[in-house]
Amino acid sequence: MSEHFDVVVVGAGISGIGAGYHLQANNPDRSYVVLERRDRLGGTWDLFRYPGIRSDSDMYTLGFSFKPWTEDEAIAAGPAILRYLDETAREYGVDRHIRYGHGVKSADWSSADARWTIVADRGGEEVSFTCGFLFMCTGYYNYARGYTPDFAGIEDFRGRIVHPQFWSDDVDYAGKRVVVIGSGATAVTLVPELARQAASVTMLQRSPTYIVARPSQDGIANWLRGKLPAKTVYGLTRWKNVLLQQYFFRAMRKHPDKAKKTLVDMVRKELPGHDVDTHFTPRYNPWDQRLCLVPDADLFAVLREGRASVVTDTIDRFTEAGIRLASGKELEADLVVTATGLEIQLLSGMPIRVDGKLFEPAKHLTYKGMMFSDVPNFAISFGYTNASWTLKADLTANYVTRLLNAMRKRGMRQVTPRLAAPVEEVPFLEFTSGYVQRAAAQLPCQGARKPWRLHQNYTLDLMALKYGGIDQEMEFSNPAPAKRAA
Ligand SMILES: Cc1cc2nc3c(=O)[nH]c(=O)nc-3n(C[C@H](O)[C@H](O)[C@H](O)COP(=O)(O)OP(=O)(O)OC[C@H]3O[C@@H](n4cnc5c(N)ncnc54)[C@H](O)[C@@H]3O)c2cc1C
Repeated sequence: MSEHFDVVVVGAGISGIGAGYHLQANNPDRSYVVLERRDRLGGTWDLFRYPGIRSDSDMYTLGFSFKPWTEDEAIAAGPAILRYLDETAREYGVDRHIRYGHGVKSADWSSADARWTIVADRGGEEVSFTCGFLFMCTGYYNYARGYTPDFAGIEDFRGRIVHPQFWSDDVDYAGKRVVVIGSGATAVTLVPELARQAASVTMLQRSPTYIVARPSQDGIANWLRGKLPAKTVYGLTRWKNVLLQQYFFRAMRKHPDKAKKTLVDMVRKELPGHDVDTHFTPRYNPWDQRLCLVPDADLFAVLREGRASVVTDTIDRFTEAGIRLASGKELEADLVVTATGLEIQLLSGMPIRVDGKLFEPAKHLTYKGMMFSDVPNFAISFGYTNASWTLKADLTANYVTRLLNAMRKRGMRQVTPRLAAPVEEVPFLEFTSGYVQRAAAQLPCQGARKPWRLHQNYTLDLMALKYGGIDQEMEFSNPAPAKRAA
């Protein structure tokens, strides 16, 4: 027996909660359910528990368009973000639509029935659902596994090794010698936090990342708060931050050398007497990979005070006492934190079939960064890589609700992106970061022109997705049985 819903949303993180809100607001006559594998909502913001976990983009753009962020911190701690998500889900009644403990295992589209059949695992029992539209809000990485390179000799190490994705309360770092492997957002968050209690903290990186210090609070927003309604302050600050981000992103891409010099000079000012050329001057251009933000320059403060240090070297092997480096130097450690990244996983890695044929994302083009060529009634929430995830997730959810309304108005049950003319293919993610490169083979491509191209620009996408037409290379149809019935 299958339960039927007009829309099944998979995942109750930022994207799934936002999807629920938009469906309720714009398609009040449609039924929907959110299937969530875990026992709690929040996704990323519930999963990650390492010390100091926080956003690295501001909450005025990481927050939802419809729910003001009202706390003083613009760069917020993980628990505060989780509270905000929980409050949003309860305030808008999205929580009542979430079925926890439902791990979706497969999805099958039948054109004859214009329906998806979804099979989920509920505590070892298989349950199935059918729906007219499937909206995947499953994030972009593997929840079960983080990425750890094959380090030689890892079994020899006598201390403890922890991947930040699986941090638990029993990880003891007080008074310990800690090595954090990595130079990304997680590493730069962990280092100042661990330095509060550890005997020593070494950030061991193979190569440097661009690191930018910004205030954790938005002075203008906090000044306006109390003078203007919360919604107005939020809206104004959101647009300010969107436009500033777009401006700086474009300027840095246009003038990489100047941008590189500016970013590295900022670090030099923070770290007089440090070897900035070796440790803070990346080989790539700004925004070839995501910039790392450090709120209130906390990382630089612990480095200046000598409570933490940076080593740029290659790991030769683990030893009983720590890590031996290619240079011959040895770092002794009681605890090694492998902040070596995520394992990208699209669509939760589950089999999805269209009329019995396995859907392989790498063989399809993405449509507006959210649907796939020749895959009917199906969308994915995939946020921006150069700005806050939620900006794009919000636009995507809104666009799905527009499509659903157009289908109903036209009496059509099936909607499928169809390529009308050949298009040049470009990568879906244009980053050179290791985690993106490792996943290249499983990622789809996007087209070089509209509507197959994603702009990575909120203003342009807002015009295209919220206000633009929905017919460009989009086929509205009715499957055969419905036609016969008619
Ligand atoms: C440590 C960290 C910090 C980050 N900081 C920022 C930031 O500051 N700014 C920013 O823009 N982005 C940031 N990101 C990216 C971040 O993941 C997104 O901002 C956002 O949280 C993604 O939300 P989501 O709902 O799309 O996915 P997720 O948060 O990953 O949620 C996906 C949900 O789907 C569920 N799910 C997955 N598969 C299934 C299945 N088969 N069946 C049922 N349920 C399933 C999961 O259990 C989870 O609850 C960060 C990521 C990490 C890891």
